[in-house]
Amino acid sequence: MLPSRYFWELTQPEIAAQFKKNPLVILPAGSVEQHGPHLPAGTDIFAANVIAHAVAERMDGLVIPGGPLGVTPMHMPFEGTITLTPDTYQRVVTETCVSTARHGAKYLLILNWHEGNISSLAIAAEQLHRDHGMTVLTVQACYVAAEMFGNEFGGLTHGGEIEALAVLAYRPDLVHLDRIDYSSDHSHGRKWDKLRRTRAYQPVLRDIRTIAPTGWYGAPEHATVEKAKRMLDGIAGAIAKEAGEIFRLLDEAEGGTAEIKHLKKVS
Ligand SMILES: [Zn+2]
Repeated sequence: MLPSRYFWELTQPEIAAQFKKNPLVILPAGSVEQHGPHLPAGTDIFAANVIAHAVAERMDGLVIPGGPLGVTPMHMPFEGTITLTPDTYQRVVTETCVSTARHGAKYLLILNWHEGNISSLAIAAEQLHRDHGMTVLTVQACYVAAEMFGNEFGGLTHGGEIEALAVLAYRPDLVHLDRIDYSSDHSHGRKWDKLRRTRAYQPVLRDIRTIAPTGWYGAPEHATVEKAKRMLDGIAGAIAKEAGEIFRLLDEAEGGTAEIKHLKKVS
């Protein structure tokens, strides 16, 4: 039994043995950005971390440290936000994962909780597969949460109940339900979120204030630790099941990483 699923809490021999036993690494992807007066700036990366850890327990993988930051220029009008450029972020993700691949990691699950990272992660994922032979699956965990729990918890909104629950699952002391204040108008926020989350039409928004003039909207006041545990368990169980199945299909379709290495030798 491993003492932890977090790569950086383990010793070298423990990591080496785990890579031999099951070469699966999970990269949490999030951001540091303002989340109103009641949630910490690290909400997105905390959400990604706690779900990644729960998935790692279910899939026997290791959670690797990819850094807390993401691509979030939209939130820069507010203090509490630190953003990377897409180019920097892609390189951080790629170089982090390549390091583990050199030591034997073969399967990479990128677990993302921040929409601003999606396009950069897609480029990094493609590169990690084509140039470095990893079998890669990216999961937008925030959308899994929205699909599974959106009806019950008021949809996926910036600073709303789903995000409060994700942080409660990680560290309850970081959630300040007594400080909930100045939510932006719900129907206005929903209209814009719906507009930017369709598959066919993808508008580029400059500023979060277009969606929420105060920086956030939602109704997190009924969030509880009990609901948080239930949501975490549901999301992690669903991701572990689906990811396991997709990795199996990818192995079937591509012959897995071993075959890719073999093809490289031949050419
Ligand atoms: Zn967030």
